[in-house]
Amino acid sequence: MKAKLSLLVVVLLTFLGGYTIGSASVEPYQVVINGNPSKLKVGHDKDSLIVPLALPVTSDQEDWNISLLRDDKAHKLDVKMTSVKRKLRGDTDCYYCAATGNCTQDYPAGSGVNYAGACEYICSGTGKCVHCGGTGKL
Ligand SMILES: [Zn+2]
Ligand SMILES: [Zn+2]
Repeated sequence: MKAKLSLLVVVLLTFLGGYTIGSASVEPYQVVINGNPSKLKVGHDKDSLIVPLALPVTSDQEDWNISLLRDDKAHKLDVKMTSVKRKLRGDTDCYYCAATGNCTQDYPAGSGVNYAGACEYICSGTGKCVHCGGTGKL
């Protein structure tokens, strides 16, 4: 009886292991935004990944450069997003985050999660201030 039980456990483990490998397409992707690991959860639509990115808009017209690098093997999504205008700005302290570079919408600030422990979407789960990109400077 005891031997039978441990065999069942082994079979179950094999099944679970196989299942994880077989369902690679629904494995969560690690999203990295401008080099910062994010807690964002990526949506799936057939073979497309849906990435909910937050873009702060502070003036009449905003131009963003966004490039995405999808690595299916590593289950990684590398996102580079920069405000075109931001590059032209000066070197003043960021007043949104008091120059800390941390996202003030997070709890605690800069953690990438909200008070409920879920991904905080203003900073796309990176914990970095979206206005200065975590640099503390505008
Ligand atoms: Zn945040
Ligand atoms: Zn800031």
